[in-house]
Amino acid sequence: MRRSVTAATAAPLRARVFGAGPTGALAALALARSGWQVVLCDPQPAAALLDRSRAYALTHSSAELLEGLGLWQPLQAHLAPFRRLELCDQALQQQVSFGAADLPVHPGRSPADAVGWILQHRPLMALLLQALEGESGVSLRLADPAGCSSELPVDLEVAADGHHSPRRRAARIRHWHRPYRQGCLTVQVRLRGSEADQAWELFRPEGPFAVLPLGGDAFQLVWSAPLPRLQQLERLEPVAFLDALSAALPERLQAEVLLDQPRAFPVALEWAWPLQRRGLVVVGEAAHRSHPVGGQGLNLCWRDVAVLQQLAGQVQAGRLPSRQLPGRYAARRWLDIALVLFATDALVRLFSNRQPLLLPLRRLGLALLARAPWLRALSLSAMSDGPCRLRWP
Ligand SMILES: Cc1cc2nc3c(=O)[nH]c(=O)nc-3n(C[C@H](O)[C@H](O)[C@H](O)COP(=O)(O)OP(=O)(O)OC[C@H]3O[C@@H](n4cnc5c(N)ncnc54)[C@H](O)[C@@H]3O)c2cc1C
Repeated sequence: MRRSVTAATAAPLRARVFGAGPTGALAALALARSGWQVVLCDPQPAAALLDRSRAYALTHSSAELLEGLGLWQPLQAHLAPFRRLELCDQALQQQVSFGAADLPVHPGRSPADAVGWILQHRPLMALLLQALEGESGVSLRLADPAGCSSELPVDLEVAADGHHSPRRRAARIRHWHRPYRQGCLTVQVRLRGSEADQAWELFRPEGPFAVLPLGGDAFQLVWSAPLPRLQQLERLEPVAFLDALSAALPERLQAEVLLDQPRAFPVALEWAWPLQRRGLVVVGEAAHRSHPVGGQGLNLCWRDVAVLQQLAGQVQAGRLPSRQLPGRYAARRWLDIALVLFATDALVRLFSNRQPLLLPLRRLGLALLARAPWLRALSLSAMSDGPCRLRWP
């Protein structure tokens, strides 16, 4: 079914990608730009793929991938950069400020002018679908439940079909799943008290709370707390919801108007193992899912795509037999995934409480972060490029 190095140059390599969410769509584009013929299928129509009220916090690893695929420039009008990130422990009333200048410089990159960027789901998916439609190597099969059921042989299958991943289950890849007691509520609001380029990660005893700028005075809130409490909040009238929000936010941040409907959803720690089987690789949320603290989720998904793109390019150039791609992919991805899942889980456990034994440890950690620029640089570098591409300041 798969080809050797010499045969790879004779005919185009073929891939089938399951799932046209942000990971599958980008993976299909990346494979096509590496010279592969790609079938991308999703049971949902384009309108449903676009219609999610979400905003993603993008880090520098995602910016690099989008730039390489020529998507960064067209997204400029939709990116809300944040130049400062305020980390606050509300139980201790202690705050640490991170700035773009804290990020170590990567060779080949100009010095960062933002810690990260917030991007809404709709313009991202609109651009991805438009790019896919214009790509001659991609056959897009949306709204077709049988779209990927073809028996035509391919060199690679990519499961990007989300955390339930029917394709991963069909391949009998093990999947470890541990739900958090905390859920997550997302809502967009108009807010007073924050700069337009300032993001906040508030550690509250009931769970982390992110405040992410969307441009002007609009902000996306990502509120973690016990799921039943969030489900109650979700059902409140707007005025009552804004009151509950005021009680949760620090005094200086005041939410004034709701811009969309609050939505609560469960959060879990999930990991598929192994990340490949018989010509199939598992990417994005089909492979891993983490707590939203630190906004790592989609960036980790897209680092899967970046590695897949590099390996696909090597196969296309005849430097790697296609049968070795899945194994190489799994070998290069597991450590980054393990470290991000571990770090996000540790942050939630360490900060979502008022444990008297943990408070001094948190106080010390935050004091060190506030005083030691090298420690801020290291932690920001791990968050921005992934723990496996740490740069020392
Ligand atoms: C309710 C909710 C709210 C979220 N809010 C935020 C947020 O505010 N900010 C943030 O950063 N992250 C958020 N996330 C996480 C974020 O959405 C994910 O990190 C991101 O969507 C992962 O992309 P993905 O493409 O891997 O998976 P998905 O986006 O889940 O895409 C999977 C795709 O696979 C398709 N599919 C399913 N079955 C099949 C099949 N049999 N064959 C082919 N295709 C199939 C699905 O239709 C879907 O389009 C949220 C997640 C959820 C569940």
